[in-house]
Amino acid sequence: MTAEEGPIGLAVAAGTLPGRVWMYANYHCNIECTYCLTESGPKVARRELGRTAMLEVARQAAELGFTGLGVTGGEIFLVPDMPELLAEMSQYLPIVALTNATLFQRRLLSRVEVLAGKPVSLQISLDRPDPDVNDEMRAPDNFAKVVAAIPALVQRGVTVRIATTVESIEDAELDRLCALHRDLGVSDDDHVIRPIIARGRAIEEGLGVAAAQSDLPAELTITADGAFWSPFGPTVRGGRLDTDLLITRTTLPLSVPADTLLRLVDRQPRGADSALSIR
Ligand code: SF4
Repeated sequence: MTAEEGPIGLAVAAGTLPGRVWMYANYHCNIECTYCLTESGPKVARRELGRTAMLEVARQAAELGFTGLGVTGGEIFLVPDMPELLAEMSQYLPIVALTNATLFQRRLLSRVEVLAGKPVSLQISLDRPDPDVNDEMRAPDNFAKVVAAIPALVQRGVTVRIATTVESIEDAELDRLCALHRDLGVSDDDHVIRPIIARGRAIEEGLGVAAAQSDLPAELTITADGAFWSPFGPTVRGGRLDTDLLITRTTLPLSVPADTLLRLVDRQPRGADSALSIR
């Protein structure tokens, strides 16, 4: 039986199960955004998934019939050897990897060259076209670091996407943001706009839209603490991991959480489409 003929492959082909498997590489970060889902920052517990587990998730995801991988955190490039790990995982499936792009100094830029020409997109957060407004919700100098990193990555042949996370944005401001990302070498097709979700630190800040399970696509998400319904599941509030969207503590073999997720999806009423996505 090929991957496409198995229950997961068939469900992915039929569109009943999203094709991407997410991994939380870690939870720590070098900055502290006001809307961070995971309350990430320099002092939080790392909760790293680990190289061996990530490679195994990637390999088994391909074997089961999933069609893509997502890697998020925390800031994933705080994990040692992340460029090489992404390159290795991409031999199994294409990857979208989320980063704040503030660590791309000369040494890291040279190491990410290993991703040039590989099916790996680095999805970088850029929320506003004006430095002061952008940095207000992220970190001092965030804008300057991001607009320096993007063309440096593009020049090195690394695929870059931009994610804009906002409560709302005026048309004129969005037009200026789009002009900026085009100038930086990122096309409109590689720009996603997504809402702030009211989980994690966003709740304390009074930000974001509420998201019930039925609002979120069933994207299998693997963390050091278990498998979740969605990448919006393993969030942190008050220093404690949210478990309302935990589907099983077992992560490997991947068929265990994948089959559990598929059973939950099959129980959903028909037409119950979900609308919110991390990408
Ligand atoms: S939103 Fe991303 S960049 Fe900001 S604190 Fe959280 S993990 Fe770090």
